[in-house]
Order: sequence, then C-alpha cells, then structure tokens
Amino acid sequence: MSRNVEADVVVVGAGLSGMIAARALLAAGLTPLVLEADERVGGRILTEEVTAGVPVELGAQWIGDTHQRMFALAEELGVQTYRQYDDGETSYELVGSGVLREGEFHARFASELKELELVLRRLDVLAAEVPVEAPWSAPRAAEWDAVTAGAWYDAQGLSPVARTLLEICTVGILAVPTAEVSFLHLLFTIQTCGVTSELFAESEGGAQTTRFVGGTGEITKRLSALIAAHIVVEAPVQTIEHEVDSVTVYCRGGLVARARRVIVAISPTLAGRILYDPPLSGVRDQLTQRLPNGSAMKAFFVYDEPFWRADGFNGQLISDIGPARMSNDTCIPGDDHGVILMFLEGDEARTAGRLPEPERRAALTAELVRHYGPRAAKPEFYVDGEWSDRQWTRGCYNANHGPHVWTKYGAALSTPVGVIHWASTDTATYWSAYMEGAVDAGERAAREVVESLT
Ligand SMILES: Cc1cc2nc3c(=O)[nH]c(=O)nc-3n(C[C@H](O)[C@H](O)[C@H](O)COP(=O)(O)OP(=O)(O)OC[C@H]3O[C@@H](n4cnc5c(N)ncnc54)[C@H](O)[C@@H]3O)c2cc1C
Repeated sequence: MSRNVEADVVVVGAGLSGMIAARALLAAGLTPLVLEADERVGGRILTEEVTAGVPVELGAQWIGDTHQRMFALAEELGVQTYRQYDDGETSYELVGSGVLREGEFHARFASELKELELVLRRLDVLAAEVPVEAPWSAPRAAEWDAVTAGAWYDAQGLSPVARTLLEICTVGILAVPTAEVSFLHLLFTIQTCGVTSELFAESEGGAQTTRFVGGTGEITKRLSALIAAHIVVEAPVQTIEHEVDSVTVYCRGGLVARARRVIVAISPTLAGRILYDPPLSGVRDQLTQRLPNGSAMKAFFVYDEPFWRADGFNGQLISDIGPARMSNDTCIPGDDHGVILMFLEGDEARTAGRLPEPERRAALTAELVRHYGPRAAKPEFYVDGEWSDRQWTRGCYNANHGPHVWTKYGAALSTPVGVIHWASTDTATYWSAYMEGAVDAGERAAREVVESLT
C-alpha cells in the first residue's frame, strides 16, 4: 500500500550520521524525514544487555580524547562517560615467542619495538603530506596509491616481530589485511585522526580511552528521541528520482517521500545499491563498486569476576596465533562481572567468524586459557556479533580503499550530485570510520543542504 509524505530534506539512514544531519536541519528551520531500513535506529552502534547490568557493545564502543564532537554530544544528551580500564600488563604471543607478559616481552624484543616506533614516526611524517579533503592531491598521491600498505610495510626491512605487530595494529583499525589497503588510504586514515599514536594507542591520547555509561546505545537512543517525529523505521530506500530542485524517494513497503534535497547517510557500498533515476555518473558508480566494507566481529566472554586483574593483567592480549589478534577488558564499573572482548578482524573474521558458533567459541576460549589460565574456560555468558550478515550494514568497520581508488575516484566520494548529498562516517575528513567521523560527516552534509536552500 503506498503512502505519500513530504519534507524539506529526506535523510537515508538513521545511523549516527543521518540522525546528526537531521538534527542540524531541524535546528536550521528545515523539516527532515529520516528513512531507516532496519527496525531499529543506530546502525553500526548496537548495545545489547547480556545479563542485568552488563551491556556489551556489538558495534561502536570507545571514543578517544580528541573526539570533541562525541564528548559534546554525550554531554548535551546527558550521557556520562568513564575511562577504559588500563591497569596491568598486556599478554603477548608473537612469532613463536610463547605467551609472554608485557614486561618480559618488552625486555626480550626491545630493539624490535624501537624499529616499530621508527616506522610509526615515518608514517606520521608522510601522513602530514596528505590533505584530508583531497587525498588524491597529495604530492606523492599516485605513488602511494599504487602500492598497498602491506607492500610498503614489507619494504621497510622490519624484523618479523615488528612487522607482525604492525600488521595486527593496522588490521585492528582497518579490518582488512594490509595487502588489500592502499598505502595512500592508510596515510589518509592516520591524517584524519592526527598521528599514529592517537590511532594505535589504547591509553592516553588514543582512540579507545573512554566509554559511555549505559552503553553507546544511550547516545543513539537519546538522539533519536529528540527527532522521533521525523524518523520512519522499516523503510528501506530503494529508488531515488532526482530533478533540478526536488527528489522523490521510494521505499520498499510503499512509502514515497517528496523533498527538495536528500542526504544519503549510509556506507558507499550500500549507497551503490540504491537505484538512481536518472543514473549517477560512471565515476560515482565505479567508486561505490570499489569501496567494500571491512570484516570485523566482536566476541564477549562474561565471568563472575575479572580474575585476570588480580594476576596483574589489563585484559589486553596481542597474538598472531589467534583466532583473536587482540582483546580488551570491557568490565562495567560498579558491576562485579568480568568481561573480556575478543576481536576477530580482517582474515580472522572471514575464517573464525564463519565457523559455527560453538567452534568459534571453543577456539577463542582456548586462546583465553593460554593467556589467563583455566578460569578463562568457564564464562557465565558468551555473545558475539557478525556484521557482514546484517543486510543494512554488510561489514565493518568502514569502507576500504584499495589501490587506485582515492586517486581515480576519490573526488566523487562526498561531492554532491545535484540535489543528492552524501554523509556517513566513510565520507568524513575528521576521524573517518569512527563515530566522531559520522558526526563530522552528518554536520557537513546538513551544512551543504542548508547553504543550497538559503
Ligand atoms: C563492531 C564495530 C565496532 C566499532 N567500534 C568503534 C569504536 O569503538 N569507536 C568508534 O568511534 N567507532 C566504532 N565503530 C564505527 C562506528 O560504529 C561508525 O563509524 C558509526 O556508527 C557509523 O555511523 P553512520 O551513521 O555513518 O553509519 P551506519 O551506522 O552504518 O548507519 C547507516 C544506517 O542506514 C541504514 N540503511 C542502510 N541502507 C539503507 C537503505 N537502503 N535505506 C534506509 N536505511 C538504510 C542502516 O540500517 C543504518 O541504520 C565500530 C563499528 C563496528 C561495526
């Protein structure tokens, strides 16, 4: 059954970016209509309560010290924050070292860690040459976009330990093996975040210092409540007809929305699945054909208490045996349970992530037992979350740029096409791929629309 509605601006997608755009449009006196495909808002933000008092984040979890838009949003919405637990040692197993505590690992591999540090400094210097608004215009863009980050790493003459650590840290951010990432894209990602120390560090200054009381879902829940009258869920956008000064947006289920502008606030690969009439340019379509989302999945083990803390561990592990390459202590302050988060990213998400759940869980349990002893074998609860199966996300953390994408197609990523504007964190120039980037992109798209209408 068809239903017709009108608005000034249709926003496709009620993720953080779309809702931020809608809120900004409302503030500018325009009427937005947010069309969300899923039955819930929030997109890549998804908090689930495993047991009373223990919310876990199947999607976005942390913000970092320079995520000023997210700190401001949390304050405005009345969501309190707390610091990530970081006391104690990380546990390592790399390149046949066996399981080593951080102190032992640092002592044994001091020169390898120095090598790593030098490469990170070199990355910072090169990244500073990449203009985030137009990475393709960097003086050495063509050279850097022709190689993968992995090939560039391989050419640095690193020891196996330094090279392996670099791979694990980078996959932990991009969620694809470095052999699939353009070196220019790696430098762009570093530059949108500041410096490598902000991107890679867990503690002071890193991207993972702070969490939200009640879970990240509190942010999207409260934000959506502010614009509830302007959101329609279970309205997957299928077709966008666009003219010189108007759009007609068709949803599965029969909803038809007419407006003056549209902001498409979904990842580029999903934006490419919408039918545009008239069709978009070949460059725009070839861009969206070339921006697959990464592969990542989180698995949570909930214990009666955080027993690893008493043994002097911070709950972080770094392993090249896996299946998880990294983990985190994600306990909730004020709750007695111990919660460990294991990350499956890149190839591990594509292998262990596709195993039947009992097999995946058993492999992850064995890894935890290697690092934290037999108590790790007895969690009270286990939960994991796969993202490529989700029809309205199809992978995470964000869009990956392989070689030649930025230089040949990059200009089409966020340039409006007539009355169509693009948001989502994948189009951000500040902390792209993160929640901060989603806010950055949503605000930018709303600004473009307001300027074009006034
Ligand atoms: C496992 C995981 C861990 C992460 N960890 C962190 C973290 O710790 N810190 C951090 O800052 N970021 C993290 N991120 C990234 C963060 O979640 C994203 O940057 C951010 O949420 C993206 O918001 P968005 O609005 O741009 O896109 P999305 O959240 O993808 O929103 C897009 C919305 O559009 C909807 N949609 C899709 N297609 C259509 C259609 N055809 N019609 C209508 N609606 C449609 C979707 O359902 C979705 O609601 C993580 C992401 C994941 C998945």
